[in-house]
Amino acid sequence: DFNSLTQRAWVEIDYQALAHNVSSLKRILAPETKLMTVIKADAYGHGAITVAKAVLDSGADYLAIATLSEGIDLRKAGINAPIMILGAINTPDEIKEIIRWNLEPTICNSEQGAIFARTLADLGQRLSVHLKIDTGMSRLGTLWHETVTFVKEIKYCPYLSIKSLYSHLATADDLDPTVINLQHERFKEAIRELKAHGIHIPMVHLANSAGTMVGQEFHYDMVRVGLGLYGLYPAPHLRDKVSLKPVMAVKTRITHIKEVPVGTGVSYGHSFKCDRPSTIAVIGIGYADGVPRLLSNKMKVIIRGKYIPQIGNITMDQIMLDITDFPDLKVGDIVTLIGQNSDLTISADDWANIIGTISWEILCGFKHRLPRI
Ligand code: PLP
Repeated sequence: DFNSLTQRAWVEIDYQALAHNVSSLKRILAPETKLMTVIKADAYGHGAITVAKAVLDSGADYLAIATLSEGIDLRKAGINAPIMILGAINTPDEIKEIIRWNLEPTICNSEQGAIFARTLADLGQRLSVHLKIDTGMSRLGTLWHETVTFVKEIKYCPYLSIKSLYSHLATADDLDPTVINLQHERFKEAIRELKAHGIHIPMVHLANSAGTMVGQEFHYDMVRVGLGLYGLYPAPHLRDKVSLKPVMAVKTRITHIKEVPVGTGVSYGHSFKCDRPSTIAVIGIGYADGVPRLLSNKMKVIIRGKYIPQIGNITMDQIMLDITDFPDLKVGDIVTLIGQNSDLTISADDWANIIGTISWEILCGFKHRLPRI
């Protein structure tokens, strides 16, 4: 609900869009494939607890987060679904917390496996774990051609129970399929080798959002979808693969309006100078809320169904607009920074394109100072 805390600026989360995206994604999955929803980084800025509840209601099978504390927050909120930790775990203290909160960690190599084995033996506890192999991302995981040795070491530990083996794609959103195909071949090779040694793994998985959209040959037993869940596409050429609706809108209000003469400089550094007598509107959001300062003088917003240009440097809590051509605008008017207003939209992709980053970074940049509605 709107209340005094949400007068200044806020993020709106569209549950119907989230449910739509979950069912759209499920519709394109291979028949036996499970949907793991990636809700790390506070569900890419959308609010992990509310998103977790919504996606589980809509039929998601599994949750993934990056850090131990993200997992604990979900358990404290009463979420009982299986939760996999994608990040690396290296200390007995973390392992104790993982057991306490019934989370499922990733083990990336034999050294980590040994820490788990020792800690679990000391505690006399069993634990379900996921094993990560590196097929070309060069981030976490044991190199694919060492899979059998790695898996055998974990398998021989009576306290470890392997729930899945997975790898992560580096270029699934690229039009050039060379690297995704190379990674896929390495993944298949690892699976073949495990079979050849008579080693059974309950689940294997490889695809992120882009891999999921590229095709069912990447789906295996589960897909790990982040960005797509939130209604964005990893690349324009994947738009026709699945129907998605943006989940997040970012809004604020006009807080102040003033008239200034020609030649007036606007904001820190006077990076904008009015070339005519102008009307300036101030809005109640800034870079401390997650609007990148690099958008200064390059972004626009939507008010009452019209695009309005932004002027001057973006400040910590406030941003200026040139509303000279829009004399009917008033203090209190709602300003859409990201989202839809009448037939106009601004997306996280638009911002990402302007400043040369990716929509993932824009989404998870929105701070807790903005209430989620
Ligand atoms: N799997 C792993 C291991 C990840 O690190 C991530 C996110 O970075 C994902 C899946 C989800 O990626 P995306 O948001 O591109 O779907």
